[in-house]
Amino acid sequence: MPEDHSQPLLELLMNVSREVAAALDLRTVLQRLLFAAMQNVGGERSSIIVMDDAGKPVDATIVYGQRFHEHTTQQLRDTVERGLAGWVVQNRKAALVTDTTRDIRWLRRADDTANKNGAKSAICVPLMARDRLVGVLTLVHSIPNAFNERHLELMQAIADQASVAVLNARLYTESQRTARVMTALAEGAAAINSSLDVADVWRRVLNQAMQALQVETTALALIENDTHDLVFHAAAGNNSGDIPGKRIPNGQGLAGLVVKKGQTVIVSSVKQDARYSDADHLEGIEARSIAVAPIRSQGKVIGILEAINPTSGTFDPDAPMVVTGLGALAGTTIQNAQVLAQLQKAHERYRELFEDSVDSIVLTDWEGRILEANRQVVTLSGHTSEALRAMRIEQLHEVKANKTGLNYQTLRLGGECNYESVLHLKDGGIIPIHVHARRVELEETDSAQWILRDITERKELDALREDMTDMIYHDLRSPLGNIVSSLDLMDSILPDDETLRSMLTIARNSTGRIQRLVNSLLDISRLESGQQIVDQNAIDPLILIREALRDVEPSAAGRHQILENRAMGVLPLIWVDVDMIHRVFINLLENAIKYTPTGGRVEIGAQTTSGTAVKFWVRDNGPGISAADRDRIFEKFTRVRGKEVPSGMGVGLAFCKLAVQGHGGQLWVESEPGKGTTFWLTLPVAQRPSTGQLKRQTGRLVMKESRK
Ligand code: ADP
Repeated sequence: MPEDHSQPLLELLMNVSREVAAALDLRTVLQRLLFAAMQNVGGERSSIIVMDDAGKPVDATIVYGQRFHEHTTQQLRDTVERGLAGWVVQNRKAALVTDTTRDIRWLRRADDTANKNGAKSAICVPLMARDRLVGVLTLVHSIPNAFNERHLELMQAIADQASVAVLNARLYTESQRTARVMTALAEGAAAINSSLDVADVWRRVLNQAMQALQVETTALALIENDTHDLVFHAAAGNNSGDIPGKRIPNGQGLAGLVVKKGQTVIVSSVKQDARYSDADHLEGIEARSIAVAPIRSQGKVIGILEAINPTSGTFDPDAPMVVTGLGALAGTTIQNAQVLAQLQKAHERYRELFEDSVDSIVLTDWEGRILEANRQVVTLSGHTSEALRAMRIEQLHEVKANKTGLNYQTLRLGGECNYESVLHLKDGGIIPIHVHARRVELEETDSAQWILRDITERKELDALREDMTDMIYHDLRSPLGNIVSSLDLMDSILPDDETLRSMLTIARNSTGRIQRLVNSLLDISRLESGQQIVDQNAIDPLILIREALRDVEPSAAGRHQILENRAMGVLPLIWVDVDMIHRVFINLLENAIKYTPTGGRVEIGAQTTSGTAVKFWVRDNGPGISAADRDRIFEKFTRVRGKEVPSGMGVGLAFCKLAVQGHGGQLWVESEPGKGTTFWLTLPVAQRPSTGQLKRQTGRLVMKESRK
């Protein structure tokens, strides 16, 4: 070389730059660079190791004379960690070794000895691009002292010129790889997600893994809920038939490790890796290399995906990313497929429940067309399922439009309704039913659900009770009337004997109670049949209260209870059937006394709330009434079940409610279990008094013996 070497140097650098910049493929760039270096600087052997941003070797090219050589990742790692290149990487400085036998930075290798271990000379320079170390370039000459400082400078110049091209090629390779992985995963996702059938999803995951990773066999195992063992569910490829059903006990082998760490593991040589154990062995498969990735769903590892024996012998660098990506993709779809399968099962169970229900259930659309009817409807009505599906709900039973709303508007707006009706049978007959209808959401559409309960038995019982009521009334009323008049007569002729008088009082009280019951039963049937109350008079509420208190006073005294009148001041007259309302107060007070333990407290009071009604209350500090029973107690013959409940017929409150409502008033209850009960009722104020009609009653109320 001439002393002034600036001109040829510039030319050389331009050449190098043109050569390497023309290529984007990393291997090509590296090869061109090595040839340029050997041609212009000298040497028989050269290498480039490319590193990623973390300093890890990612690729390399080695040239001996004219030939390229294969290298292993391990060799690269050795060179970069130790050896001359390692020194250069660490110091980020170029190194000139004039005699390799005399420089401790030179790592002696097996191939050195093969080369008769002669002394050599070497140059090693870092490839720096924009302050990043992208690789090291080494040039070796087979004789010592072949390289000098000038060669070193030249190499440095070439390296500086080429390093940006190397970096670009490396970045390009990386982006190509990412693109390949992305494509594989996107295709995988599309294929895997196109099914929600569990077995089909497994098959798709395995096929995608086979294709993307180019392996002989793939297998998929999921963690069993209770044991946490991995159980293989599906496999594809060579000799995969025996794999399904195979179990890897919780935490064992390479598979267990992947589950525990939640990270993909690739074992390039199964024989030399202790992590692969007997537990991992799959019947009929001789694993050489294996990739195992966790299958994840919602952040949790639910199983593993195994790819065994790449057809090319080794997994390519994309493999970890691809297998990890497929594992992640598979998780959500597998989970979704499982959830769907569970849902379908639940749906079937629901269907069975619907079919097997003891109640007749009908689903209709909002036109009233029957969509579904369960077995019980068929049994009860005699119509076949097909016939029912061609019918409308109003053909099956008499719909009460005042409850469902016109065109089922009330139901449609979310309201529920209950009523009694009749079911039309196929043979033309009818049976009494109770109907409970409501809106239900079914498979994204809403429909009306009708539960039809056969109440034939209850109706028969009701009829029986009515007969009994009739009987009690007719057979008791006349003899009772006789007893009452006899007792009245005895009252006037009885000598003034205390014992006799007290016996007479007991007899009169008991007869009074029976008479009230008989009258109340009679009133119930009259009011229920819609008869108006006609015998109304204006009366001072305070008188009604005082009279009622006087009648129940003996019972309260017998139970050592405090009976209190809280109705004070002046109240307007009320317009009522005096005898009937008297019995209402007696009923409420007697209940309060009866259900409140001895020593309790019972009070009655009244107040005006508006100009049109007087509001009364009867309050006790007894056991109270549960919310569930609060409505029921007003039904006829309904009594709250429980231990040691005082006896009764369960007609008192039914009568009270009908009587108060018959007056245009209201009766309701407020109660806190354990604290007590308050019954409230309103009665109408007497309006526009006319002297003829309104006589203020002041005396003792006269009980009517018989009323028409
Ligand atoms: P009966 O008293 O004959 O059972 P009622 O119709 O008068 O019938 O009352 C119905 C039910 O309501 C009673 O069985 C009782 O359980 C409940 N009840 C009524 N009044 C009270 C009260 N003051 N405290 C607690 N429970 C009551």
